[in-house]
Amino acid sequence: MSATNLLELAPDEIMKLVESLGQPAYRGRQLATWVYVKGVAEFGAMTDLSRDLRERLAALVSVTPPEIAGRRVSRDGSTKLDLRLADGRTVQAVVMPDDDRLTLCVSTQVGCGFGCAFCLTGTMGLVRNLTAGEIVGQVWAARSTLEPGARLTHVVFMGMGEPLANYAATVKALRILVSPLGFGFSPRRITVSTVGLVRGLERLARENLRVNLAISLHAPTDEVRSHLMPINRGWGLDDLLAACRRFPLPVRQRMTFEYTLLDRVNDSPEDAVRLVGRLRGLRAKVNLIPFNEWAGSSFRRPPPERILSFQRALLDAGLIATIRWSKGEDVGAACGQLAS
Ligand code: SAH
Ligand code: SF4
Repeated sequence: MSATNLLELAPDEIMKLVESLGQPAYRGRQLATWVYVKGVAEFGAMTDLSRDLRERLAALVSVTPPEIAGRRVSRDGSTKLDLRLADGRTVQAVVMPDDDRLTLCVSTQVGCGFGCAFCLTGTMGLVRNLTAGEIVGQVWAARSTLEPGARLTHVVFMGMGEPLANYAATVKALRILVSPLGFGFSPRRITVSTVGLVRGLERLARENLRVNLAISLHAPTDEVRSHLMPINRGWGLDDLLAACRRFPLPVRQRMTFEYTLLDRVNDSPEDAVRLVGRLRGLRAKVNLIPFNEWAGSSFRRPPPERILSFQRALLDAGLIATIRWSKGEDVGAACGQLAS
């Protein structure tokens, strides 16, 4: 039997485990601090634990992040990591520097079952869910590649897979990321991006996690959205936006709506007007993502002037709208270019 991977355990579970070995609670806090706060995997290096405890831990448990199987640095400074999981499958995580931010994009599934027409990951189908330890393991592994003094400031769940379709592991990973004895991120620095699973949003609303939410909208009409995103055939825009309106947003937080701009598909001035109408009354901001092309896709990125005029139409209507000029396109690390 393989040893329990401590990265599968939340800090409170690590404390219980250590207590079950007859140790006082503070020993558990020390162990969680070594594993999550300091990023140490070797029990021998955990110098404030007794030698006896270190030996017992080494016999029982391990700290096993995914293995870094590949690392490609893009011209724009972002780094794509290929991470090999225990069963040999790989997922990708991307480190993206931007001004004073260092954002990590993590995956939640191997492949994805939602089959959005413009997404390369979608062509893989769903291979399997990641465990919570495999999700936080990406953060652990990525952190270990940083220069001394560098620190991840933000985590976005925007890599391979649909976070809310792997609900339990995603929520557990979020709790480990925000726990002070875990990675200690402020929830405001974490964003979960979803294709828009209404039931998942309703469950998430009850978790009181206070992380940011990004909804993949991509079209202002059911006709176009259903064509691009099969999920929309079951849960249309009215259902989705009603769930967004009900979502208990923390004060001063806005919900992000992602809108991938596809040439002549969803990028007309009329589409911008319809989008403004759809988002009326929501504390929203729109993140426009010019389509990242991949071999075999029939979609094209709109020309820059069409991208800018779409943004201008949203801004003129009083919406907050930014353009995510892609990171890591040259190494296949941009949004929707991840596959293994
Ligand atoms: N499954 C989740 C999170 C992963 S995708 C979701 O769909 O939200 C992260 C974002 O990239 C989503 O908004 C997705 O729709 C978008 N995306 C996917 N493929 C893309 C592509 N080729 N170009 C631009 N954006 C893309
Ligand atoms: Fe899955 Fe998101 Fe890609 Fe759609 S856009 S196929 S939900 S990863």
